[in-house]
Amino acid sequence: MPDGILNLNDGRKIPQLGLGVWRISAGRKCEAALCTAFEAGYRHIDTASLYGNEESVGAAVRTSGIPREEIFVTTKLWNSDHASPERALEASLRRLKFDYVDLYLIHYPVPQRLKSWRTLEKLQQQGKARSIGVSNFTIRHLTELFGQTGVVPAVNQVEFHPYLYQRELLDFCFARGIVIEAYSPLTKGERLNDRKLVAVAKKYRKTSPQLPPRQSILPFMSGLSDGDGTRSPAQILIRWAIQHDLVVIPKSANPDRIRENADVFDFKITDEDMRILDGFNENLRTCWDPTDAP
Ligand code: NAP
Repeated sequence: MPDGILNLNDGRKIPQLGLGVWRISAGRKCEAALCTAFEAGYRHIDTASLYGNEESVGAAVRTSGIPREEIFVTTKLWNSDHASPERALEASLRRLKFDYVDLYLIHYPVPQRLKSWRTLEKLQQQGKARSIGVSNFTIRHLTELFGQTGVVPAVNQVEFHPYLYQRELLDFCFARGIVIEAYSPLTKGERLNDRKLVAVAKKYRKTSPQLPPRQSILPFMSGLSDGDGTRSPAQILIRWAIQHDLVVIPKSANPDRIRENADVFDFKITDEDMRILDGFNENLRTCWDPTDAP
């Protein structure tokens, strides 16, 4: 049962583990994924108007029977909606059938970002977005935001994993009380078979009911635990993010993997292995690169 909670700089709290729902098709698939996630203990969902599944997220939250205030839901202002962030959030709330979202993010640092940020502040004062933040902002974009508005966002959601260990951005955000949310924390699956990562995962045994040992016929060919009772590479990546005090939002539409990704609160990666994982950086970007966003 995930129990990691972080404090935001606006006094609110955020569950450290969330389910990312990008590329989970709206409808039954999305609702089933959320149903599994809630049963596994997730209390945080990361969606966006861009993902086209806000209706399903709202429906799944209602069907769950869990009180609305116990589930943290994030959505985002898409690039083509900056002409009116008020209208964009109203439309998201209509689709979600919610009175408020827990977190509203500027999805990408488009040129209209400063004007939109001022509107987000109003939306927060009106209670329609409990917390507000940004996504894909570099140190340059954040510095500009503080300089022009004097306001520090609650979070910056960026791609973050050992293969893109953005140490400078992490230190910058921590020093200013901005929580980093790690998106694509599993490298979209691209590095789950990396031998270095698999070697770390094999050092950590499951503490929950163990599967019987079996011979691995395809070593290094599966992102999942190979059934010998050790942690999976995905669990190591998620745990690494948690130990760096990040919020982490792995996506899965597969029930077993949704549960596996939440089973990370009963073990700890040693300091030595954290350093080994920190050393995997290769500036790998599996999503967009905002470095040159004007
Ligand atoms: P990700 O979470 O790094 O990886 C997802 C991929 O890994 C899927 O193909 C999934 O397949 C697979 N997977 C999940 N768990 C696994 C496991 N235990 N073992 C093996 N494979 C596993 O990638 P992401 O979707 O790009 O990022 C996560 C979330 O971050 C998104 O859903 C979205 O909410 C957010 N995001 C935000 C931005 C932004 O610009 N703000 C950009 C990208 C992503 P299955 O579904 O088949 O399990």
